[in-house]
Amino acid sequence: MGSPKVCLTLTAPTIEEDLELLNRYRNKIDIAELRVDHLLPDERLHVRKFPGLAGLPCILTIRRQIDGGQFVEGEAARTILFARALSFAEEDKTKNFEYVDFEEDFHIPSLEDATLAFGTKIIRSVHDMKNPIININDRLASLNKSGYEIPKIAFMPHSLDDVKNLFEQASLLKDSNHILIAMGALGTPTRILGSKLKNYLTYTSTPETLTNTKNIAHIDVITLNDTYHIKQISEKTKIFGITGWPLSGTSSPALHNAGYEKNGLDAVYIPICAEKFSQAMDFAECIGVKGLSVTVPHKEEVLNSNVVIDETVSEIGASNTLVKNENDWIAFNTDAEGFQKSLLEFTGLKNLKRKKVAIIGAGGAARAIAYAVHKLKGDACVFNRTLSKAKKLAEQFNFKYSILNQEAAGMLKKYSDIIIQTTSKGMHSTDEPNQENDPLFFYDFSGKEMVFDIIYMPETTPIMKRAKNAGCKVCNGFDMLRYQGYKQFELYTGVEY
Ligand code: NAP
Repeated sequence: MGSPKVCLTLTAPTIEEDLELLNRYRNKIDIAELRVDHLLPDERLHVRKFPGLAGLPCILTIRRQIDGGQFVEGEAARTILFARALSFAEEDKTKNFEYVDFEEDFHIPSLEDATLAFGTKIIRSVHDMKNPIININDRLASLNKSGYEIPKIAFMPHSLDDVKNLFEQASLLKDSNHILIAMGALGTPTRILGSKLKNYLTYTSTPETLTNTKNIAHIDVITLNDTYHIKQISEKTKIFGITGWPLSGTSSPALHNAGYEKNGLDAVYIPICAEKFSQAMDFAECIGVKGLSVTVPHKEEVLNSNVVIDETVSEIGASNTLVKNENDWIAFNTDAEGFQKSLLEFTGLKNLKRKKVAIIGAGGAARAIAYAVHKLKGDACVFNRTLSKAKKLAEQFNFKYSILNQEAAGMLKKYSDIIIQTTSKGMHSTDEPNQENDPLFFYDFSGKEMVFDIIYMPETTPIMKRAKNAGCKVCNGFDMLRYQGYKQFELYTGVEY
């Protein structure tokens, strides 16, 4: 079974705008879905001409509000719109809608007869915008009683377990005459791995209109093609991924998928959003994931699960990389290595002997950093808002520790050759440095400090800006991110990035 067709959902207010968008992305899709419910009332009268103008197979959809659409004018008005759009069939079939989406409870025999007579295929859909649908195979059978229709099930999962159930049940299906979708961020794997679900098609949106379909969580058509290479994914494609919660704004799929393309590997790397780490592992097993990156808040939880741990992971107390061999998951930590490579490049040093190093923060990332600083023989002090956490981390490596506030200014002066900022303060902030976004707001830079902030968004964090203005050499966390990702890539594929 090949990859599913890619269907672009068009949700502009006018037909002209929909056609403009369609033309922009025509070479990336197979089918266009005209969402009549998003059109202005006057525009809805001209829907019949759309397939002829579109010049590729089209789906006619008029979605009610209850099913996640915008149509509120009632069933009589909807039936009339369907009839107008499906009537006067042309001999040239490319000028007719190739598909129409009728919901499970929408049965108008005259319309259904007309669609069959004109060769328009019915997508018979059911949507649950609030709850998961569990009995997938029974529902598919009841949706496609005639045997001529394409049953579609879309639901809102409550947890990754509901998405796992969808994949499990799809694995029992023999053909690819169905569409199975889990909505929202939890359902992202169903958008990318349509071939594993044996889906007939996968829906996507234009980047311009993606805000219209926010809770549906479409992946935009550019990302679906250029990052995930949707057309090349088959049942044989190796699956890798990243798990975390809420897993927003991760750049790892872009990095890993670009690496597969560059090296000609049949693999895909997907986001696997999971509230609990155990759910991510169950899901990974179910769909056959071969390597899993782990991010906030699950990095420590890895150590409490059924995985084989290498020495670095047990010293750091956190893992960001899991590799599946024959039977076991092996846990690694590539954050420390990525940080070390980036730090040495930034400072131009071979090690940190005779260097006084301040580690700001004592969270998950700080652990890998303290480990690397210790390995490089630096003399460090850990500064943290919660003193007990600074103490625990510092004592593990025989470092000093301190509270992170005005009282720490003197201590910080003593450990200021290299300042490594690892707290999340300043992340996503482009404001001028202030008490809210600069963890060292109480400290005046002399200009001699080297300041490494492991945050990479924004490119210049408030603390970097202030340090740079004082004459300090500064660096953000982008190279650390890249290097830890390259190492993961190598562990997953056995190939250098
Ligand atoms: P984490 O485990 O949640 O730790 C957060 C740290 O930030 C803790 O030390 C916490 O102090 C401190 N903190 C949070 N808000 C603070 C505030 N308002 N004032 C002072 N301290 C505050 O998170 P993490 O995994 O270590 O990640 C931290 C940052 O590093 C994130 O921005 C993440 O994106 C970045 N990171 C970058 C890379 C990379 O490759 N470049 C890798 C990993 C992480 P308390 O202990 O007092 O709560």
